[in-house]
Amino acid sequence: MQPLSSNQVLDAQELDAADPLRSVRDKFDLPEGVIYLNGNSLGPLPKATKARMAEVVEQEWGTGLIRSWNSAGWVNLPQRLGSMIAPLVGAESDEVIVADSTSVNLFKLIHAGFKLNPGRSKVVTELGNFPTDLYVLQGVERDNAIELCAVPREQILDAIDEDTALVVLTHVHYKSGEMFDLKTVTDLAHSVGALTLWDLSHSAGAVPLALSAAGVDFAVGCGYKYLNGGPGAPSFLYAAKRHHQEFEQPLTGWFGHAQPFAMSDQFEPAAGMTRALCGTPPVLGCVALEEGVRLACEVDMQDVRRKSIVLSEFFIGQVETRLIQFGFELASPRESDRRGSQISLRHPEAYPIMQALIADSVIGDFRAPDILRFGFAPLYTRFVDVEQAVCQLEQVMLSERWRDPQFQVRAAVT
Ligand SMILES: *Cc1c(COP(=O)(O)O)cnc(C)c1O
Repeated sequence: MQPLSSNQVLDAQELDAADPLRSVRDKFDLPEGVIYLNGNSLGPLPKATKARMAEVVEQEWGTGLIRSWNSAGWVNLPQRLGSMIAPLVGAESDEVIVADSTSVNLFKLIHAGFKLNPGRSKVVTELGNFPTDLYVLQGVERDNAIELCAVPREQILDAIDEDTALVVLTHVHYKSGEMFDLKTVTDLAHSVGALTLWDLSHSAGAVPLALSAAGVDFAVGCGYKYLNGGPGAPSFLYAAKRHHQEFEQPLTGWFGHAQPFAMSDQFEPAAGMTRALCGTPPVLGCVALEEGVRLACEVDMQDVRRKSIVLSEFFIGQVETRLIQFGFELASPRESDRRGSQISLRHPEAYPIMQALIADSVIGDFRAPDILRFGFAPLYTRFVDVEQAVCQLEQVMLSERWRDPQFQVRAAVT
């Protein structure tokens, strides 16, 4: 897709017709009549996942029973999935593995990174980072000799110094969609001897990544967002090969052992990424993730990125002409190379407005205190969907439907 020029007539149908990814949408089981702009939070169900899950449950589990650990390859799912995800993040196939949740994997790799840099105590992160990243860091600080330095985004580069052991940042910010220049920050950290741990939860599957080329030390990422692995899908971890000999993580369970079935009394780490595992892999979650990842592997990530930018620009253009009058403000960077694949708008009544929009089957989400988020997942989002979403939002504002008391009630998950 070509970038939009300002004098172009923006016709959603023409943009859809020119979209090289338009056929990928058919691989998803999207409910009729719903405009789904929340794949940055939970990707939709791939059609192949339904059939594959039924097969795993009925045949591999139902009939194969415990034999399936070997015969159906369950035991290698973490490595197999890791090698599928590796090209999506610009890593070698044995530098990525799948396990546990992003939060747990952050815990493992914060320890790993910190321990690889003895004599330094400072760990730099961003204030306003995704909550779990901050909470896990705070937990590590409570129990270890790290000194957590959480600063606003503008102060991060200055905070990285000769005392810094590790820099823990989220590549694409969950709230604003703002994207760090991963290589520049990594280079700066390395220039003073600090290591880097990137959280790729809002990048993997949406933004091309080149972890090896950028020299990144460690990374984690989420399986249920742009990788479409299903609710609570396991997460992935990356460690650069140069750290494979020495890196240690604290959750030394039997699946991270060199020979788990030797049943030895003494822990001995497995080679490479396998030592990042803890316990038995969640087979059903891994199988669902495999189908989601497969879809991302079938497309060119450069096409994905180009479409993501055009979708976002198209949305911003529509917002600027039709929604600014209602008090919406762009809460994401205006320059496309500084954004991931979501656009956030700020509005004092963001919560009820989003609830009213969802009631109209346009699904985005709300993030406290005043953000409406719209994810533009290029594999299935059409330009006509974006146009329709803006139209509905305009209707919600014109009709003032958001004032209805039912939309003020806060649900547990927003
Ligand atoms: C979604 C997300 C997570 C999710 O962590 P879980 O352990 O799966 O709950 C972590 N970090 C970031 C930046 C996220 O966006």
